[in-house]
Amino acid sequence: MSGEQSPEPDCSEVLGHLYEFLDREMPDVDSAKFREHIDECSPCLEKYGLEQAVKKLVKRCCGHDEVPADLRAKVMGRIELLRSADPVPERPAE
Ligand SMILES: [Zn+2]
Repeated sequence: MSGEQSPEPDCSEVLGHLYEFLDREMPDVDSAKFREHIDECSPCLEKYGLEQAVKKLVKRCCGHDEVPADLRAKVMGRIELLRSADPVPERPAE
């Protein structure tokens, strides 16, 4: 592992471009990498699923594709909340 650039997107990259991915606004190559990451990374998968659900909902209700910023912020806040409220992890008996 030297200074070579990694072809794998990391979580922040994936989440930062989630809407481009959902809207298919990125090249197929990138999109394939994103999908691969999302498939293997449960936090990203969770967020991806939520974003997708929000987009569908908005499309059905408002008849357009764009998620209003405030709704998006609300969902994001909700996700953060859920995440910080994680159940106490089980301790290994030792
Ligand atoms: Zn991830």
